[in-house]
Amino acid sequence: MEHLDYIKDSLDIKDPNTTFDKEFDKFSTHKVFYAKLDYDAPQCPNCQGKMAKYDFQKPCKIPYLEMVGYKVLIRLKKRRFKCKSCGKMAVAKTSLVRENHQIPNIVNLKITEKLMSREAMSNIASDLAISVSTVYRQLNRFESKTDLNWLPENMSWDEYSFKKGKMSFIAQDFDSNKIIAILDGRTQTVIRNHFLRYTHKVRSRVKVITMDMFSPYYELAKSLFANAKVVLDRFHIVQNLSRAMNRLRVQIMNQFDRKSHEYKALKRYWKLIQQDSRKTSDKRFYRPTFRMHLTNQEIVQRLLSYSDELKKHYELYQLLLFYFQEKNSQAFFDLIQEKKKTVDPLFQPVFKTFIKDKKKIVNALELPYSNAKLEATNNLIKVIKRNAFGFRNFENFKKRILLALNATKERTNLILSRA
Ligand SMILES: [Zn+2]
Repeated sequence: MEHLDYIKDSLDIKDPNTTFDKEFDKFSTHKVFYAKLDYDAPQCPNCQGKMAKYDFQKPCKIPYLEMVGYKVLIRLKKRRFKCKSCGKMAVAKTSLVRENHQIPNIVNLKITEKLMSREAMSNIASDLAISVSTVYRQLNRFESKTDLNWLPENMSWDEYSFKKGKMSFIAQDFDSNKIIAILDGRTQTVIRNHFLRYTHKVRSRVKVITMDMFSPYYELAKSLFANAKVVLDRFHIVQNLSRAMNRLRVQIMNQFDRKSHEYKALKRYWKLIQQDSRKTSDKRFYRPTFRMHLTNQEIVQRLLSYSDELKKHYELYQLLLFYFQEKNSQAFFDLIQEKKKTVDPLFQPVFKTFIKDKKKIVNALELPYSNAKLEATNNLIKVIKRNAFGFRNFENFKKRILLALNATKERTNLILSRA
């Protein structure tokens, strides 16, 4: 029989018992390849007796990796064997696909690779010409294991909504960014029950726990981690200020007509208002909104000229950012005290909390941590959440985050289940 080895080579199929014996068929969107799986009769798995070749199964359809823009389908005919003594039937095995499965291993590897990226589940499915449930099935082959013998010295706690109205709790190693825990829910009981699984000795390793200033977890953290200092996390302090600034910008923007130039400019260049003014670039580009060449600094000046209220708060916000980054807690709090009565109501709750938590903020300013790492994780989780549209189930959300954030760093934490 003629063997078309070039097809096998180009599909990169290594299994010596799979042969292509017929030219492929080409359709407008896909190509179909025809293969046979056959080898000498093995021992009977049931009685160890002698088996003999029987017929071929009717071909199974195997979706394969795409090839030069064509979807690829392999129709594989598998040899059946029959035992001469006990009469049991057996089907030939191949390294191309797992037993009783349809998706080739090479496609599963590709799915895993994509699961570790930020791609949406539905995109992965359509890229590989498989169903979304196949992608979920591969995701479900991963088991997350919690190592109860270790906790990091510096831990950060945070909350994320994994879908509307559903919050999850995430603990992270501040130094490596590794996710330590993702919990379904964020109540004190859920968190306590999780960390009580670690021995007292392991928990006493933790030296610092950073968290958001509005976090209700101070007391809980202290009771679980005897040696830990609870500090506000610098990223969140700045985030609270910058959220207030953003709300104020929106409030002012909405006072203008939606079709006005001011409205459009305030909407388009929101980031420049948020940004630390010392980081504003001075490169000059053509800006269609203004119909001229402007630097970012010049744009900010124009935006501020639309509203005294905006200008006043922008200057206050930038000054607070400056004192904060310079770790000048004296000047930072003097300014807050001075302005707390006259500042816009959007800033008032933030200022109140700052004053209430003054000691913790001063602590945070003295810590050598940067905000960059947490910001990176926050962004990644945001992207996954956006792409995870349709994560009905918390376990899937959790696995996806662990795959994207931990798997590339440390494979031991995620174990591909053999089941
Ligand atoms: Zn047998």
